[in-house]
Amino acid sequence: MAVIDVDADGVVAFTQALVRIPSTNDPARGRNERPAAELVEAKMREWGWAPVVYEAAPGRPNVVAVVEGGGGDGPTLMFEGHTDVVTEGDLSTWTVDPFGGEIRDGRLWGRGSADMKSGLAATLYATRALQLAGPFPGRIKVCALADEEGLMIGAHHFVSAGLTADVDGAIVAEPEAGEICATAKGALRLRVDLTGKMAHGAMPQHGRNPIQAVGALLVALAALQAELQERHPAHEHLGEVYITPTVLRAGSEEQVNVIPAVASLFVDVRTIPGAEHKDIADRVAALAAFDGISAEVSVLVDRPPVDVPVSDPVVAALAAAHRAVTGEEPVYGGVPGSTDGTVLTHWGGIPSVVYGPGGKWIAHQADEFVEVAEIVRCTRVFAEAARRFLSGDF
Ligand SMILES: [Zn+2]
Repeated sequence: MAVIDVDADGVVAFTQALVRIPSTNDPARGRNERPAAELVEAKMREWGWAPVVYEAAPGRPNVVAVVEGGGGDGPTLMFEGHTDVVTEGDLSTWTVDPFGGEIRDGRLWGRGSADMKSGLAATLYATRALQLAGPFPGRIKVCALADEEGLMIGAHHFVSAGLTADVDGAIVAEPEAGEICATAKGALRLRVDLTGKMAHGAMPQHGRNPIQAVGALLVALAALQAELQERHPAHEHLGEVYITPTVLRAGSEEQVNVIPAVASLFVDVRTIPGAEHKDIADRVAALAAFDGISAEVSVLVDRPPVDVPVSDPVVAALAAAHRAVTGEEPVYGGVPGSTDGTVLTHWGGIPSVVYGPGGKWIAHQADEFVEVAEIVRCTRVFAEAARRFLSGDF
């Protein structure tokens, strides 16, 4: 069976149109993802779909369309993309207009070209291509969610609204350089507040210095990282567990003669399957216990690692599609950070796999780009993956 024909010019032009919308979350400049979501909604309506818009937060829409195959009973596949992008940052580091959507040298340039407006466009055009190719079993839920780059309120809202309940598998269109990523690293961000006793720098014996406790804690955290790395050997796609102190706050430059009462340390923990976040947070709390110091550990972000087996239907269908469209064996990889797929799998209980056009490392950088040919190729893979997943042909 020949692979499904897709509208190559259409998907590229739609990616350009999305990139030209500066959908950064930047209230000060009056910007968020809403205009990009509206463009997605309009395209869905143009095709006769019936998208539903959910407000994940005021003015922060999730756009969801269910496309019935009309070919009898079958599973539900979810395609997921996010409409927000990170800030363009310092314009002087760009050699192209970050929101120009320019195509040059076979590349489509701009903020979000890779992460992930091309992937989002590919999910829409793949679904449209499959629909035009004739009836198929089951249905496809095409989802353009808000705020992936922030607190993932779009994905969390999607799950709490019960929209994962009927989904059998999700393909998340983040840029992974053509790798099939069924695993993703976990992220645990902790804040440790150590409260001692303020005192004059000349009379430290009357105080309890939390800065010295932070020093001891940093040493202990390095030992904990070594212990965890020993206990959880490097994952083939995700590498090591890391405990990285990222922010340290204590005292005041204007008060060099004062021992401060409080010191705060922020820690970014990156985990692999098997490393339990609750255990790690408990260990950090135990290490933060010092005489004369009261310690409080707060969990700021808790996104567990994702580990979907490659034998899962959604991964197997995607791998078969990749093989059929590209003629190449799929390369399996891991997502270094977390994605909306983390939320869908951990809280929504559905298997997810991440795959999409664009390089893994180009996201969030200046002069972000995606190869035009990769957008079209990925659209073909998505259409074929959907057909195979829904008809059980993998
Ligand atoms: Zn992304």
